[in-house]
Amino acid sequence: MISTLLRNRSGESELNASRHVMVVEDEADIRRVIELNLLAEGYNVKVAADGNEGLEVIRSIKPDLVLLDLMLPGKDGLDICREMKADPSLTDIPVIIVSARGEEQDVIIGLGLGADDYICKPFRVGELVSRVKAAFRRAENRSGNETNSSLSFGDVVLDLEARKLLISGVEVHTTATEFRLLQALLESPGKAFSRQLLTDIAIGDEVYVNERTIDSHVSSVRSKLGDARGWIRTVWGVGYRFEPEQGSQA
Ligand code: CA
Repeated sequence: MISTLLRNRSGESELNASRHVMVVEDEADIRRVIELNLLAEGYNVKVAADGNEGLEVIRSIKPDLVLLDLMLPGKDGLDICREMKADPSLTDIPVIIVSARGEEQDVIIGLGLGADDYICKPFRVGELVSRVKAAFRRAENRSGNETNSSLSFGDVVLDLEARKLLISGVEVHTTATEFRLLQALLESPGKAFSRQLLTDIAIGDEVYVNERTIDSHVSSVRSKLGDARGWIRTVWGVGYRFEPEQGSQA
């Protein structure tokens, strides 16, 4: 079983060997499952079972990604996230929250603090690995091409200069709010957005809106995406994420 897990499954492993992933998780079984599966993908993995130790290691090795449990002895995950985001040398490190059921409120707070994504326990191993890969892709897109003038996924093109949505080459009218909403989602495929964060980005935090207002904007945006409407997924209890079909990223 372990030898199967550890067998190198992808040609990405050489690249992954240069990527350090820090896992802060106090439950030994879960920590081990995460560690083994990331090792199998070729990542360089460090683990800590305690929040204080976790933050100490994060400060000393400056990993490329952190998988962060919320309920931890020593220092809890939200505090670790808060301290990382307040430290200029750590703020750009993507954080994926690994939460237990019933911690949706904390997940929402964590996403508001700047965490990238979250995984709910119990999770499927394939899901964990794909969230980690997506986080690395986003980090590389951020550092690589910040001058993108359009975002394209299959037939969906968002022209950032002309402020237009094109579906199969045909312009589809969007409101300014819908455009901002789409831009946020398409700029970070795979990232989980809380309703509050999307509201702040798309509507602004100056006007009072019911959090559910964003749902009606999302629903309207979905209807404009045609066959790609399913790419905006509902993240249960939290908000939304954009998950284009594999291979549709231009
Ligand atoms: Ca825990």
